Amino acid sequence: MSNTSTTSPSPDANTLIDFADVSKWFDDFQALKNINLSVKQGERVVVCGPSGSGKSTMIRCVNQLENHQQGTIHVCGREVYGNMKQLEQVRREVGMVFQSFNLFPHMSILQNVTLAPIRNTKLSRAEANDIARHYLERVKIADQADKFPSQLSGGQQQRVAIARALAMKPRVMLFDEPTSALDPEMITEVLDVMTELAEDGMTMMVVTHEMGFAREVADRVVFMDEGRVEESCTKDEFFAGGRGERAQAFLSKIL
Ligand code: ADP
Ligand code: MG
Repeated sequence: MSNTSTTSPSPDANTLIDFADVSKWFDDFQALKNINLSVKQGERVVVCGPSGSGKSTMIRCVNQLENHQQGTIHVCGREVYGNMKQLEQVRREVGMVFQSFNLFPHMSILQNVTLAPIRNTKLSRAEANDIARHYLERVKIADQADKFPSQLSGGQQQRVAIARALAMKPRVMLFDEPTSALDPEMITEVLDVMTELAEDGMTMMVVTHEMGFAREVADRVVFMDEGRVEESCTKDEFFAGGRGERAQAFLSKIL
């Protein structure tokens, strides 16, 4: 959405996500303040920051689960705003994994993964099943395909949620604290799958406080505070102490 008469130029073809001066309010409360951020093809960006700093709101604006009121957001070269057709195209390019896995409890694992491909593309059930099994294999859970979500551990359910997003063949994957609802012993299995995805070249924007993951996988670390992107630096700069005071204070609490 743009509140000016001129639309901002679309970013170059290598930029998959681009926020230009984006602000968002919930009534009177400004949750995002002039966000400028871009994610290039193949780039892995980790977003961290205190609770309430706007991380989820920002990531949800990418596929317009939240609307912004000012500035422009481009995803894969398209400006995102309230036009349903445009939005559907954007959502097809963007896979999202949430803190709570949001699987459909009454459907088998296989059905959970095939649902969107069957609805949104012209695949037959057999073709969708093949694709689903491929991605379930990739998240190392193919043997659970016929079970129901409640029969799986949290870590397994989150891996199904990742497979479900991948089955739509997105160009970008968004993760919003994908491991923070998990018991500690299940965190690694989910992070390992995400690391493999990154190694395969997936473009990723990941909200997480798992700094070991950031260290291993991120190209860039973004630190948010009070609705602002306070820092955006390369992983090496970030971990070499090139971060500012607020980021430093935050990190010293979680590390
Ligand atoms: P984070 O993910 O960094 O913890 P959020 O993006 O969830 O932060 O929230 C940022 C701020 O916006 C918080 O102050 C939160 O209370 C507020 N907020 C988030 N969602 C809503 C909403 N639906 N209505 C009103 N305020 C909201
Ligand atoms: Mg959040």
